[in-house]
Order: sequence, then C-alpha cells, then structure tokens
Amino acid sequence: MPKINDITSFTVITAAIFTIVVVRYFIAAGVFHLLFYTSKSSKWNSRKVNQQAYKKGQFQKEIKWSIVSSLIFAVAGTLTVWLWQQGKTQIYEELGWLDIIYIPVSLGVAMFLHETYYYWVHKAMHHPGVFRYVHKVHHESLISSPWTAFSFHPLEALLEAVILPLILIVIPMHPLAILLHLIVMTLSSVINHLDIEIYPKNFENHWLGKWIIGATHHSLHHKDFKTNYGLYFTFWDKWMATENGNFNKVFKEKSRQKIFSAGG
Ligand SMILES: [Zn+2]
Ligand SMILES: [Zn+2]
Repeated sequence: MPKINDITSFTVITAAIFTIVVVRYFIAAGVFHLLFYTSKSSKWNSRKVNQQAYKKGQFQKEIKWSIVSSLIFAVAGTLTVWLWQQGKTQIYEELGWLDIIYIPVSLGVAMFLHETYYYWVHKAMHHPGVFRYVHKVHHESLISSPWTAFSFHPLEALLEAVILPLILIVIPMHPLAILLHLIVMTLSSVINHLDIEIYPKNFENHWLGKWIIGATHHSLHHKDFKTNYGLYFTFWDKWMATENGNFNKVFKEKSRQKIFSAGG
C-alpha cells in the first residue's frame, strides 16, 4: 500500500477504495437481483414480504444514493489506512497459531460493537427532529430491494462509516478479520433489504435463527418505522422490547411458502 502523505496519494487511495466499494455493491446487489427479482426467479414471489409493486424509478434512486455512500465509505477507508500507517490503530499483520481462535473472536467482538452502535444510532435517527435530515432517504424505500443496501443520505453514510475506524483504534484486528467483517456487512445488508424471505421454515425457533436478522425482520422496519432497529442481530430489539409483535407470524407465513409454485 503506498504511503498516504499528501493530497495526491490520498486521492489515489480513495479512488481505488471507491472502485472496490462500488464494484462490491453492484456485484452483491446485482447477484441477488438476478437470483430473486428476474422473471426466471419469479418462483420466489410467494416469499415476497410486500406484494405491492415498486415505485417507478426506485432502483435508480437507490443506486444514485448508494454511489454517493460508497464515496463516503471510501474516504473513511482511506482515513483508516492513514491511521494505520501512522500507527494509531490496533491492526496487526503477523499471523500466529492463536489467530485460528482470535480472528473469529475479534470478528465477533467487532460485530457486537457495531450492532450496539448501530442500534442506538438508528433509534436516534428515528427521532422526529433528526429523521427528515438523516434517515428519510433510506426510508423512502418503503419496500426495500437489494439496491437499498447502501441507499443512505450522506449524513447517515458518515454515521455508518465512522464505527469501523473507531473499533480498529481499540480492538486488535488482522486484515483478514476486517475483510470478513466487510463481507458480512455487505451480504447482510443485501439479504436484509431483499424483501424476500430466504431463510428456511422453522428458522424462527432455531438457536441461530432467533438471533439473526433477515428480510422479513427488516422489511417490517421499513414499513412501520417503530420496531426492529437492529443490524445483524435481534438481541437489542429483544432486550429493549422493540421487536415487531407480528414478526414471528409474518416470518412463519413467508418461510413456509413453497418457492416452486409460480415459475415451475
Ligand atoms: Zn433498511
Ligand atoms: Zn430506520
């Protein structure tokens, strides 16, 4: 990685990270779009949480906001690399045998911290005085889609971007753990905005299914605004009693739909 020591090197690294972030968005959202939203994949229609049609031009709008968000994520990424080069983060590079255990543990800790940060920031963004300036753009997608994954107002993108550098200042993480975190972040955002329940039936009673967020869970948030604030996990919603009362009912209904009914 070239040293960041002037505006040119900062711009070059930002452009490189921006390209990676945008390509990652188009691949992740694009693959899920092809798998679940084309006429060939219409067999998934029965599992669509909201059966109404999308507003005209919604995907284009979401893509525009997502590209702007990607630029903000890229600047935050470059700042993180700069902090790393200045020795201000806990990022370490040498791998030892203990990393077989430590990498998953550090990933778990980072995800827990991210979850906690996001839950409370998300709740604050729903405060009436804040909502219209920061979070309204994301909720313009009343029915979410894979393209909603990064569709944020720049202020919201900024709030989302600062947590990873903050975590890296405190928690020792190997680049591999950071990469895994970024992959999980993107995948979960696309899955949670899919509006099609892809988890298997009875998953709501499974030890893992009880705790991880999926499409039904987050679709209910996009619809009623007042419940299901979590990001990856349901625990804060359960602890703070903000989980949607209809979640289990809707999840049961959607996850039991046969996926072969329409297209054959
Ligand atoms: Zn959302
Ligand atoms: Zn929200």
